[in-house]
Amino acid sequence: MASFDLESLLGGNRRALAKAITLVESTLPEDMQQAQGILEQILPHSGNSLRIGITGVPGVGKSTFIEAFGLHLIEQGKRVAVLAVDPSSPIAGGSILGDKTRMEELSRSELAFIRPSPSVGALGGVAQKTRETMLLCEAAGYDLILVETVGVGQSEYQVAGMVDFFMVLMLPGGGDELQGIKKGILELADALVVNKADGESENLANLTKQQYAGAMSLLRHMSFWTPQVMTCSALKLLNIDTVWEMIEDYNSQAQDNGSFSGKRAQQNRDWMHQLVNQMLQLKLNQSKEVAAIMPELEADVANQVVTPYTAARKIIDLI
Ligand code: GDP
Repeated sequence: MASFDLESLLGGNRRALAKAITLVESTLPEDMQQAQGILEQILPHSGNSLRIGITGVPGVGKSTFIEAFGLHLIEQGKRVAVLAVDPSSPIAGGSILGDKTRMEELSRSELAFIRPSPSVGALGGVAQKTRETMLLCEAAGYDLILVETVGVGQSEYQVAGMVDFFMVLMLPGGGDELQGIKKGILELADALVVNKADGESENLANLTKQQYAGAMSLLRHMSFWTPQVMTCSALKLLNIDTVWEMIEDYNSQAQDNGSFSGKRAQQNRDWMHQLVNQMLQLKLNQSKEVAAIMPELEADVANQVVTPYTAARKIIDLI
């Protein structure tokens, strides 16, 4: 097993970070074992960042926004990591987020670390890898972790479950049905930001903002925080600072009232339970005993000789 330079990672060395992430993303058993060893060791050094999730439909301006926002944060003296959860990779083999040249200026900055979406991993898939990568970035001293995902499919729910602040970028005009945004996502959002509020679109963006502010006020919120609705222009760099001020405001309130640590604790518990489910599923899939009785049980269930409940019990009892 190749040795890994933990001190370099903790010192913020980007090559060491990239290498650790490669181990985390690997599906080779020896790499996975080494990755878990590294993760155990860095755990005490992780957690000291603000994790921000950013979603929105393709073309809404996510990469333009993240470039502008990331550069603004760097101006404030922050170190910024950008990670992606790309729902397309397991299905198409390609990647919606990775194909174009993105965030050119940000990627040139010494204070930024940009990592494209991993191809699907074994256990827990892409989201699991992103969670672990997030811990590595924190150990390497990144103050802000921006987790980007395309707002189609399930990945935005997963991202909402791994960040401190979850933000949905919107286009000017059109209802959420038109924008392909699910109502469930609006309920998870800590902020809706209508992008492209510039030029001819500015008035429409303001109107859209008012409509969403109305819609959001009807949703029930479980938290101390009232989700904010605002406009910005990632292209013209308008209100990028306002978005950051809002997130800082959220952060200081959440730190003070304990909901920051409470939310993270809950996310860790949920993560553990998800892993237990996935490990059980894996064990089921790999069990020779289960494979041996499955065809007969399937036939019995289909022919109504055995109830699905009894068949399921027989399978579960084998593991
Ligand atoms: P993504 O698919 O969500 O990552 O969107 P991109 O960042 O690639 O942006 C899609 C298109 O919208 C590009 O042509 C951008 O230049 C443009 N765009 C992004 N942000 C803005 C904005 O604030 N105003 C205007 N007018 N165009 C923008």
